[in-house]
Amino acid sequence: MSTGTETVGARAAADASLGADPTRSLWQRDAAFIDGSWRIAAQTDEIEDPATRQAFGRSARCDDGTVEAAVRAARTAFDPWAARDRPDRLAVLRRWQSEVELRREMLVEATVLEVGAPVDVAREAHVDLALEIMRTTLDELEGPEPVERIGNSIIVREPVGVVASITPWNYPFYQLVLKAVAAVAAGCTVVAKPAELTPLSAYLLADAAEAAQLPRGVFNLVPGRGDEVGERLVTHPEVDLVSFTGSTAVGAHVAAAAAATIKRVCLELGGKSASVVLDGADLATAVRTTVDMAMLNSGQTCSAWTRLLVPVARLEEAVELAVEHTGALEVGDPTRPGVALGPLASARQQAQVEGMVARARAGGARVLGARPVPDRGYFHPPLIVTDVDEDDEIVRDEVFGPVLVVLGHGGDDDAARLANDSDYGLAGAVWAADTETGVAFARRLRTGQVDVNGAAFNVHAPFGGFKKSGYGRELGRYGLEEFTEIKSIQV
Ligand code: NAD
Repeated sequence: MSTGTETVGARAAADASLGADPTRSLWQRDAAFIDGSWRIAAQTDEIEDPATRQAFGRSARCDDGTVEAAVRAARTAFDPWAARDRPDRLAVLRRWQSEVELRREMLVEATVLEVGAPVDVAREAHVDLALEIMRTTLDELEGPEPVERIGNSIIVREPVGVVASITPWNYPFYQLVLKAVAAVAAGCTVVAKPAELTPLSAYLLADAAEAAQLPRGVFNLVPGRGDEVGERLVTHPEVDLVSFTGSTAVGAHVAAAAAATIKRVCLELGGKSASVVLDGADLATAVRTTVDMAMLNSGQTCSAWTRLLVPVARLEEAVELAVEHTGALEVGDPTRPGVALGPLASARQQAQVEGMVARARAGGARVLGARPVPDRGYFHPPLIVTDVDEDDEIVRDEVFGPVLVVLGHGGDDDAARLANDSDYGLAGAVWAADTETGVAFARRLRTGQVDVNGAAFNVHAPFGGFKKSGYGRELGRYGLEEFTEIKSIQV
């Protein structure tokens, strides 16, 4: 395990090996990356470190003219990029991958600074996982292009065109890799708009594209506001597909705004996923793992298991186990190894979480685990909430903070009913006496991903939502196919 100081040291070494100018801060950025070069923006926005509330960086705030230039560059680059054969495209993208891997420690540092993620979480859950996904997404291009035959038809997939990638602040680098790398691998060209709070890891991806000499216009970066840059991309007639990850409210607006130009839209939205413990399951393992998943990234994870459903006879035991395990999670300075929870990402997020917890408490819920946390940043203690009604706000709505709600169920049918009684359907977990029982129960859940008995995340398996969690899939072969059109050729 490395220390925060080592992280900075490793970054300095990486900077030196990349020939970076040591006098230029990586975090003071004032340009968009368009057509293979940097275009200075008329305005910039400050970027705040949520652990200290201090501005530490700066990012371009692009305008309509800049978005126009980026879309034009992506449009011009599309035909030649799409026409490249797979080995040729793959060779270029492997250079990009190598350049991104060289920036690993900078990406970790950016994630600690702009998200407030603890350094261990930033390294494992944000950066290394995204690097693995970049690698495995490109692996999908190894070997010949898959071609299907149906009778006298040859079915092929063609890249969809210019893709707008719009991403949230909670896993900024990871989300961008899922979209931009998959789209470019599929033969599309990309205009990426990262979240206002967290644009710096996207800049590092653009730096890597420049260093790898990705063909001009294949990857473009236009940081800026959602209602300015995002809105312009969504309504732009030359954008063929919008791949959006964010809140359900903005996702609904994006789908409606995109409809006028009949462009394709993929939506990865919110969640309120259930972790269901059935009779005969190992309660202690189930509770501990659910707490870890609920609190990961300070609860700012779309697929977090935020509702724990346990047999009603074991509710108190489960609550005690959850409170005990939560108490062992250290909250504090995100640059320090071993810290489990850093601050929330913004003042707005902190106010949202505090408001929902206060309303739950006022409504009679038991709120357990409160403790003092550092007051200089947007910190919030991890909490266990119980004695709630099924219709309470804290049970139904996404808190997007370190809060786990525990409810009792009256057997398998009641557990399935409760788990599915949600507007969302993104992820979930089942804890059962054996795999067969767990898989049978997983089939009853109206959700895009279910983990049985703590099974590992699979970077090759499709990820996406049912219901108001969105539509479309990311990761692996299914993720690449989102960026293609299907063509039938009769012979
Ligand atoms: P958000 O919806 O506020 O913003 C997401 C992105 O959309 C940002 O880049 C923002 O600038 C942009 N945007 C805002 N208004 C826009 C507009 N009018 N047109 C185009 N773009 C616009 O979401 P957020 O607060 O950044 O992220 C948190 C949300 O994201 C949570 O609800 C979370 O569950 C969800 N999320 C979902 C997934 C998933 O894979 N399903 C993953 C991570 C986060």
